[in-house]
Amino acid sequence: MKKILILTAGFGDGHNAASRSLREGIEMLDEDARAEVLDLFADSYGLFNTLVKKTYLGMVAHTPKLWGGIYSLLENPFVEKQLGGFTRLQETLEKILGQTQPDCVVSTYPVYGHVIKKIYASHRERPFPFITVITDSITINTSWFRAPADFFCVPNEASADVLRAGGVPDKKIKALGFPVSPVFANAARELPAPVGEEPRRVLYIINTGKKKAGKAIDRILEVDGVHLTITAGRDPELRARLIERTREFSERVTVLGWTNQMPELMMSHHLVIGKAGGATVQEAIAARCPMIINQVIPGQEEGNAALIEKYNLGAVVEKNKEVAEAVELAFEKKAALWMEWRKQLKKVSHPDAALKIAGLVLEQCESHCPRPDAIPLFETAPARVMRAAAGNGGGAQMLLCDFHIHSNYSDGKLPVPDLVDFYGERGFDCICITDHLADPKRLLGKLSELANLTLGQEQLAEYFAVIERERRRAWRRYKMLVMTGIEFNKDGYTRKTSAHLLGVDLKSPIAASLEITQIIGQIHAQGGLAIASHPHLMKSEWGKNTLYLWENQEQYAPLLDAWEIANRNNIFNDIGLKRLPFVANSDFHKPKHIYSWKTLIHAEKDPEAIKDCIRRNEHVAITLYRDFGAPAGMAPAALDAPAGHFFRERPLQAING
Ligand code: ZN
Ligand code: ZN
Repeated sequence: MKKILILTAGFGDGHNAASRSLREGIEMLDEDARAEVLDLFADSYGLFNTLVKKTYLGMVAHTPKLWGGIYSLLENPFVEKQLGGFTRLQETLEKILGQTQPDCVVSTYPVYGHVIKKIYASHRERPFPFITVITDSITINTSWFRAPADFFCVPNEASADVLRAGGVPDKKIKALGFPVSPVFANAARELPAPVGEEPRRVLYIINTGKKKAGKAIDRILEVDGVHLTITAGRDPELRARLIERTREFSERVTVLGWTNQMPELMMSHHLVIGKAGGATVQEAIAARCPMIINQVIPGQEEGNAALIEKYNLGAVVEKNKEVAEAVELAFEKKAALWMEWRKQLKKVSHPDAALKIAGLVLEQCESHCPRPDAIPLFETAPARVMRAAAGNGGGAQMLLCDFHIHSNYSDGKLPVPDLVDFYGERGFDCICITDHLADPKRLLGKLSELANLTLGQEQLAEYFAVIERERRRAWRRYKMLVMTGIEFNKDGYTRKTSAHLLGVDLKSPIAASLEITQIIGQIHAQGGLAIASHPHLMKSEWGKNTLYLWENQEQYAPLLDAWEIANRNNIFNDIGLKRLPFVANSDFHKPKHIYSWKTLIHAEKDPEAIKDCIRRNEHVAITLYRDFGAPAGMAPAALDAPAGHFFRERPLQAING
């Protein structure tokens, strides 16, 4: 097995995106390779790092000029000395490298090169190939290439020129493109130019700290034939405001919240409007979708904007009101300007960059010969491998399960892929993602506050598609089962009329407006489980006391497959006393909710076997879950540390052993 360590940092949006895409590329090319993405800033500096990130985002929003100044400070040799002074980071990295002995190390953030240089300064040779993947374009901070690496991957030829001018030998420079998601490489289709009356499909990405998009959007809608898709990000209030604002144009405006489907969106639109973030600009180029940049953070993002201008791949505008003019210009005269942009894009687009860089990384692994004393820490813990093997070949085993988890498709904090990694790294065997889907009739009067905390009708297809994709990845990577679910919200105004119902392991959407008994019928028709969520006294933003099912248990107990005997920290004894079928779930919304009640099932690792145990109320147990970092003060910082799984104590083995 080849072991590849990818080092990243959560500053800006380019580094993490590049790291994840590269990991995906590596695992696509070589099923035996194992790539780990690690943010050592989060690990070594914990809260400090969170603070810096917050400050960074704050600065981006309020004082972009100031941030530009700070970014250029990195050019200063004195500051570089300070960077070398990241002692804790250096110690942590040294420890990880010693214990895991990777076959290749990749960095997507400039600081790591300097730290590695320091670790292997005088006394020893670096025992692994080291590749720096530069995520900036054209204005490239010299700190990226002043520390040595075997190869420097850059997004384009213009960036390669900067490195050559900076004295980097030609044979070390690889202009393979920016590692965008391999999804771009697989899509063969290319959106044709809009002709005649066909809609001009424009995608508007609203940025952090840029909420005054309303007027710009009004103006764009005045342009003939424009159909607008807006992504409002993780800001439900903004989304609600925009839906309201564009109501009269609703037949040609779609307002989305946060989305996992950016590649698909870019590939299905003629133009994208957004800020000059590294990932966004590079994704637009990979999708061959011309871009209009409406915001540039000085320093860090100037190169990305310069890239669009230099290669004529779109336009950079100074003011929001110029956006509509740029859109109009692009499409006038039979979209002449747009066609020119598209032509240029085809020349510089590298949709398969992640796979190309992955190829280089794997090639370097081959050339590297591992030392005989290598400790196989990258392998999954032995207990899990054995359990996974047992799962493949049949035989019951104790399975750690959580059937009630919210992603940021409704009111959860984490995107679906992050949830899969979060649970996968903790050795869970089966999870079900259950975002809220509210009965629109019941939302009446609460629409403005709650509409954005639930899945939208237009998101359902995407929701099922994304979980399906992650289901396959979770099995490949963690041998963990992932199911698609929905929490149906029937929220009334009194406790007797509120009910939350989980549909677990669904194959397709079910309308939340149906009667509860009809919903249960459809869940069963799909082979899923219908489970009453928190049927006890409780409080949430949805209202309180979802007691309807419990108070009408004569009617519903025969229909339901199980009841939540425990939800997060609450236990509802009566369900046990009545000997009703039960499960225990996190009702996970954010990382600290992992410290909560869970279900253990003794069965084969197979969805049908698991569901069967629950239905029959056999071989089911509940357990209170804790892991590293918990629970003294609940140590939320430890939960942000992706490095945790390198050293984790596995509470699971204790449970299973
Ligand atoms: Zn609920
Ligand atoms: Zn819930």
